Amino acid sequence: MVTVRNPSKGYLDQANVLSKTLDSVARPKQLLILDLNGTLVSRMKSTGSLYLRPYHNRFFDYIFDNFTVMVWSSARPHNVDKMCRIFGEHRKKLRLIWDRTNFGLSTKDYNSKVVTIKDLEFIWKSLPDYDATNTILMDDSPEKTILQPHNHCVVSEFDHHSSTFRNHGEYELASVQSYLEKVQYQDNVSNYIKNHPYVSPANATNSNSNGDDDDDDNDDDDNGDPSDDSLPGVARSTQCYHYIFNKYGEDPAPILCDLGTDDLTARVSRLQL
Ligand SMILES: [Mg+2]
Repeated sequence: MVTVRNPSKGYLDQANVLSKTLDSVARPKQLLILDLNGTLVSRMKSTGSLYLRPYHNRFFDYIFDNFTVMVWSSARPHNVDKMCRIFGEHRKKLRLIWDRTNFGLSTKDYNSKVVTIKDLEFIWKSLPDYDATNTILMDDSPEKTILQPHNHCVVSEFDHHSSTFRNHGEYELASVQSYLEKVQYQDNVSNYIKNHPYVSPANATNSNSNGDDDDDDNDDDDNGDPSDDSLPGVARSTQCYHYIFNKYGEDPAPILCDLGTDDLTARVSRLQL
């Protein structure tokens, strides 16, 4: 039998307390919990290598300056440890690194593909300075945050195979940064996110192909083309760092590649040599 779990009454009451905009950034720094796969990286299961999402550099510089940052991934510990290589010099600033062992799963569930729920109460027990008023979970999976939905910044999934990404690029991390620049001045994150949820540029697609607008001269007929609402000074990008892992020695430096033009098949076959 599947047990349906819902947010607690206490949590929902807290999310109804009107958030105030502070004159200076909230103190202590708000807690930003990062998912990895699909949020910051896209992994190649066959080789274990991964691509790091465009605009990660400025995003990492910003979040590690302005938030207490931790990782919570449902991947297994050795994979999380490998993925955390993406943080470079910032890695030592991670407050906690949580993995699949931190979900309280049974052995059977740990070893199967169950939907894991990121219950923030687990974290708030470990980090007593934090609660629903000052915690943000950045994750591409809405189903993982059903217990504290108003602390969730739902980003679009990053998938380096995606034709939309390869044809049009993206600036999701720059967009999230712009959103967090507002959230960090709020004294009740859960209320702010409830009233002003993050909207990914990937979900703001053009709607003028529905026939409501008969101005044919300006119609864009590519239904898969994300809208050009854009962020000032930020262009869509297909540039990613490709991290490769060497089983027998030091991992090579990440390679900057452009997935809008690079031949992925050729790259994969080179890796497998
Ligand atoms: Mg994910």
